[in-house]
Amino acid sequence: MAVAKYNHAYDMAKIGKPKDKSEWGMTPQTVNAYYNPLQNEIVFPAAILQPPFFDPSADLATNYGGIGAVIGHEMLHGYDDQGSRFDAKGSFANWWQPADAEGFSAKTAMLVEQFNSYEAQPGKMVNGKLTLGENIADLGGLTVAYDALKLASGADFKDPMTDGMTQDQRFFINWATVWRRGFTDKEMSVRLVTDSHAPAGFRANGAPSNMPIFAAAFGCKAGDPMVRSDDQRIAIW
Ligand SMILES: [Zn+2]
Repeated sequence: MAVAKYNHAYDMAKIGKPKDKSEWGMTPQTVNAYYNPLQNEIVFPAAILQPPFFDPSADLATNYGGIGAVIGHEMLHGYDDQGSRFDAKGSFANWWQPADAEGFSAKTAMLVEQFNSYEAQPGKMVNGKLTLGENIADLGGLTVAYDALKLASGADFKDPMTDGMTQDQRFFINWATVWRRGFTDKEMSVRLVTDSHAPAGFRANGAPSNMPIFAAAFGCKAGDPMVRSDDQRIAIW
């Protein structure tokens, strides 16, 4: 309560003063990252720049599947249902043409459906609408990180098969690794109705199940649980 009181007073004292653009919304020791549409900035505190997200001695695939996908995720927030409402200067002004918004709604409606179909606790489903922005950012962020991995690897890349795994397998395995997270049942039931992020396990599986490169990496066939059918497969960005 004392911390809440302190933080409230700290925020209220800002009213009427010029904005401090150097201020961060997270502490350095927070394992998280964010996109701030008001300044069109992405922020990565020191604590997320360590394993499993980032390791200077790890192979490219591991880093692109970890921090690379997180960086992609934060960038994509500028292009999700919220970020589209802010222009390049951070002003509240929608910069999309009506046709952009229509196409976007049609594709994101499928993503809402996908996450609505996940049962997190007996009888309790994930809320696809509440978690939409985060799920758009995961799908687009993972896709752009994969493209970046291929660019970084170069055209004449030869897969070294690290620990018996291909580069693509290691990319997706670290994406899953960064989502190892647990909650008590009570905390989970609160989060299902308040958290704009889907439970971690659904984030680990949700985006890759839309990506044909995931299926190819692990030899999945049509009809397998991690392969969405062609008419269900979603690619937004
Ligand atoms: Zn996010």
